[in-house]
Amino acid sequence: MAPRIGVLALQGNFREHAAMLRRLGAEVVEVRLPEQLDGLDGLVVPGGESTTFIRLMRLYGLDEALRSFAGAVFGTCAGMIVLDRNHLDLVDLETARNAYGRQVASFEADLELAGEDEALRGVFIRAPRVLDAGPEVEVLAEHDGDPVLARQGRFLVASFHPELTDDTRVHERFLELVKEEQRVRA
Ligand code: GLN
Repeated sequence: MAPRIGVLALQGNFREHAAMLRRLGAEVVEVRLPEQLDGLDGLVVPGGESTTFIRLMRLYGLDEALRSFAGAVFGTCAGMIVLDRNHLDLVDLETARNAYGRQVASFEADLELAGEDEALRGVFIRAPRVLDAGPEVEVLAEHDGDPVLARQGRFLVASFHPELTDDTRVHERFLELVKEEQRVRA
């Protein structure tokens, strides 16, 4: 059966994530209310503006709903900030917003992906920088020594935008994680 994946659709790049997940065979649900998390196997928190996300999530009770959500979660860019220690505290990371400096605020870079020969093109848009990662965080890709793709249990986070290229590998990894999590919970 196709996994049911929610994409938080309050703001930001949710359409691109939805399109990519559909391409990979998932059933996609746009999530705007807490009850829409019921029955989902996974959830994407997309890029956008983290301050706006946090404000809207509080307003709709989605912050608490996400804290009690038991499925796999994928946060990209602003979505990574939302999940970090200083926000929902679901992933043991400390991130700094817009920390790549003005001149390189947005850039692309080839990333080496753990376990893959072919580089992954990372699109960074006013990206957060990971300042510290706890011992349970597994770094899957780095850029100039900073983690840019990481996993902690059922959480996957990327500081770049894998939904903005044609390369589906990061989303495929997320769907693998969703499957693993379903097996764990079954
Ligand atoms: N700069 C944004 C923030 O701090 C994140 C940018 C993005 O998600 N593309 O929330």
